[in-house]
Amino acid sequence: MSEHRPTLIELEQRTAFIRRHIGPDPAQIAQMLELTGAASLDDLIDRAVPDAIRATMPPLPMESMNERETIGYLRQMRERNRIFISMIGMGYYGTIMPAVIKRNVLENPGWYTAYTPYQAEVSQGRLEALLNFQQMVMDLTAMEIANASLLDEATAAAEAMAMARRVGKNPGSVFFVDSDCHPQTLAVVRTRAEPLGLTIVTGDPYRDFEASGAFGVLVQYPGSSGSIRSLEPIAEAAHRHQALLCVATDLLALTLLKPPGEMGADIVVGSSQRFGVPMGYGGPHAAFFATRDAYKRSTPGRIIGVSVDSHGRPALRMALQTREQHIRREKATSNICTAEALPAILASFYAVYHGPQGLRTIARRVQRMTAILAEGLRRLGFEVLTETFFDTITVRVPGQARRIAARARESRINLRLVDADHLGISFDETTQRHELTALWRVFATRSEATLDIDALDAEVEPALADGLLRAGDFLSHPVFNIHHSETELLRYVRRLAARDIALDRAMIPLGSCTMKLNATTEMLPVTYHQFASVHPFAPLDQTQGYQQLFEELEEMLCAITGFDAFSLQPNAGSQGEYAGLLVIRAYHRSRGEAQRDVCLIPASAHGTNPASAAMAGFKVVVVACDENGNVSVADLEAKAAEYGDRLAALMITYPSTHGVFEAAIVDICAIVHRHGGQVYMDGANLNALVGICQPAQIGADVSHINLHKTFCIPHGGGGPGMGPIGVRRHLAPFLPDHPVVEGVNPAAAGKATIGTVSAAPWGSASILTISWAYIVMMGAAGLTRATQVAILNANYVAARLAPHYPILYTGKNGLVAHECIIDLRHLKASSGITVDDVAKRLVDYGFHAPTMSFPVPDTLMIEPTESEDRRELDRFCDAMIAIRHEIAEIERGEADRENNVLKHAPHTQALLVAERWDRPYSKQRACFPLTDPQVDKYWPPVGRIDNLHGDRNLVCTCPPLAAYADD
Ligand SMILES: *Cc1c(COP(=O)(O)O)cnc(C)c1O
Repeated sequence: MSEHRPTLIELEQRTAFIRRHIGPDPAQIAQMLELTGAASLDDLIDRAVPDAIRATMPPLPMESMNERETIGYLRQMRERNRIFISMIGMGYYGTIMPAVIKRNVLENPGWYTAYTPYQAEVSQGRLEALLNFQQMVMDLTAMEIANASLLDEATAAAEAMAMARRVGKNPGSVFFVDSDCHPQTLAVVRTRAEPLGLTIVTGDPYRDFEASGAFGVLVQYPGSSGSIRSLEPIAEAAHRHQALLCVATDLLALTLLKPPGEMGADIVVGSSQRFGVPMGYGGPHAAFFATRDAYKRSTPGRIIGVSVDSHGRPALRMALQTREQHIRREKATSNICTAEALPAILASFYAVYHGPQGLRTIARRVQRMTAILAEGLRRLGFEVLTETFFDTITVRVPGQARRIAARARESRINLRLVDADHLGISFDETTQRHELTALWRVFATRSEATLDIDALDAEVEPALADGLLRAGDFLSHPVFNIHHSETELLRYVRRLAARDIALDRAMIPLGSCTMKLNATTEMLPVTYHQFASVHPFAPLDQTQGYQQLFEELEEMLCAITGFDAFSLQPNAGSQGEYAGLLVIRAYHRSRGEAQRDVCLIPASAHGTNPASAAMAGFKVVVVACDENGNVSVADLEAKAAEYGDRLAALMITYPSTHGVFEAAIVDICAIVHRHGGQVYMDGANLNALVGICQPAQIGADVSHINLHKTFCIPHGGGGPGMGPIGVRRHLAPFLPDHPVVEGVNPAAAGKATIGTVSAAPWGSASILTISWAYIVMMGAAGLTRATQVAILNANYVAARLAPHYPILYTGKNGLVAHECIIDLRHLKASSGITVDDVAKRLVDYGFHAPTMSFPVPDTLMIEPTESEDRRELDRFCDAMIAIRHEIAEIERGEADRENNVLKHAPHTQALLVAERWDRPYSKQRACFPLTDPQVDKYWPPVGRIDNLHGDRNLVCTCPPLAAYADD
């Protein structure tokens, strides 16, 4: 019998990207379906998903492409971005990412596919890099404590305002912002202030601050105009009025300047972008946040701290984890969850590579070039307004600014057009000699005189007065002084990466986090020069490639979700929540219903939900869940009626954080609408919906999408991410806009928008290429299949584990959605074993633990995603089942309740080779629990970490080397 002769179409389909992204092949899918009792993938979806919410996705506006075609398309797209030399400044600068860092960190899945270091024992590498980041920020700002990144400088400034309000003693409601702050910073601070009832006053703080009665003041140092003034008079005035001094600053400038911490600053923020991280048309970049030790417990974001492990040796972890939103909910200090870990890590390696002397040299060169530029312009007869500067000057050119800026563009240089009479010029690490000459020519058309750069160099006065100069060392810790050769840095980078479990080692079954494949082809465009080297405020005619990317991505997201418009500005899910709730608030206000101030949130919600609602000025009212984990419709009905015309919104996650498709969702949305409220759908679980349901059809008015979950942006060890929001038509006019770039919200009607929520107009624009590529390569059919297989994989894991661990919640036909919760609560009583013990024991088996104790305490939430094949799922299930047998030994009294293989997990190599072994179990069992020879055994670098010790003795600086050396 002759073999079936495949058609050309069939042959082409077999080479499509889909089979690379989706783990199980058709044969595995068939086997796995059997265990779940479904006849086919379609049958499985019919059984798992309620009919009422099924929808078919309209065709995507773009044809799907294979990997090669996608790269070809993106290469054409990138050509539509024209790369000019950016001298715009305003918080974004040209920088040189050392190639060794680009290839071995930014382009290395060992770094970019890791998750937030909640499981500290398998995250020591990135924790060390983040600790270096904190140390770097502390040293340069001279503050006592720093966090491990925030989303961008503008949101960090808004966080500073909020913290000043929380911790300060001045009872006023006015926050004073220096008019020499970057305009986007002012805009984001204004947006944040309004719902909190705070008033923003702007002006010259040296003149107007005292009279303002403000509880805090934000000063830019150096100013947006380039000008540098001592912070001391402001600090003195602020402290006299019990107000806090917040400073937005520049790390490179601080290698030369007197640090804010030595001049009385209370909170210091800024961006670390120019430490080797490309501008990327706005991001991603890591902001930093530093403050006084006294305020550490009020500090937003994550802080890496030093603790000890079970052998008493130093080990790193995220400190004060209990402060996270999941505990504090609407009383959380901030809603930030995903931050900017990878960009922070990149910036820290840049500092490690250059060291203090190298950074100072870069800074001095930038400063000298700027001084030569200023002197040259003065000699050419121009008035340079900035007397004391680092890298930026403002030039007065009455009536000529537009013309000169246009001339500069003819030389492919972008200047900052301040107004009709003023231009700003910013230099950076990439500025070259010939650009100085080019600039002089741009300004002085007729002048024949050519200025001699070296002659000017010999003559220019230092532009910084002594009182403003840094005295004393910084970055003196060994880590910043021993990795300056490429060989040493390469080995350091590799050593740290080897300590961690990322997706390049094993599946990471973190529920709610969607740790799916981040395909290499999706990652390539991020580092294309024409995407990486674009300033976010570059003229739009130079960024047509990006505009095309946004348009196509927005259209595809609309087709997928059913929404009418998208905003790509929010740069994390939490920011999307906040922006979406502000949109709802603005909508109610536009209809004269400003009294609607109640936001209903189910008890099972992710902690960012109540935190965002509080930030948006809503009163949070909790809706109960029933014993099946579903929202109690009766309670919802009662609360909606009770609050009546005060009801603003319901925030609901779908499928629920319990991992099931609630059948009542359509009714739930209808109830909220009937009472005049709007429905905010938390879209973090969209990976269970794409192609089979649409949020807008189910009843959502607005929803954020975590592109770093469903749409393949890697998690980067805790960021970056993107949290764009989709809205139905009536909400589109309220979507964010931007103070510097026009047309960001084309639907904006006059001044209706919510303002600005991120520093950059389109958030972390450069990583949008990843999601675009994923959608295009999968196509509608591939995306739908991915959803089906994600649901299949979760149900397969649930079916395999169900005989060993109860599955906490199931929906229709006993099936789960794309994740499942296994219940471990009973084990505490029967064996003394906790979720923590199981999580740490999984490390001995080579796995990263599932999500612990969210949304239900003492449970594990498993989300396998569609990218894991059956072999990997089985490996994980086998490990979980083997652990259950180990627990059973304790239950039967065969193993001790305290001295057992789980309580002592994870087991290190050091322990294995130690002379003494006094455990009641064998070394083989401890370290090689499955008979598999484990050639690829993962060795945790530390034993179990003592969390309490770390929080009681909070140390957030790099420990001296000696601490590692002595045993
Ligand atoms: C991840 C997640 C969020 C927060 O998103 P970030 O991008 O981390 O800010 C919100 N809700 C749910 C259900 C999530 O899983």
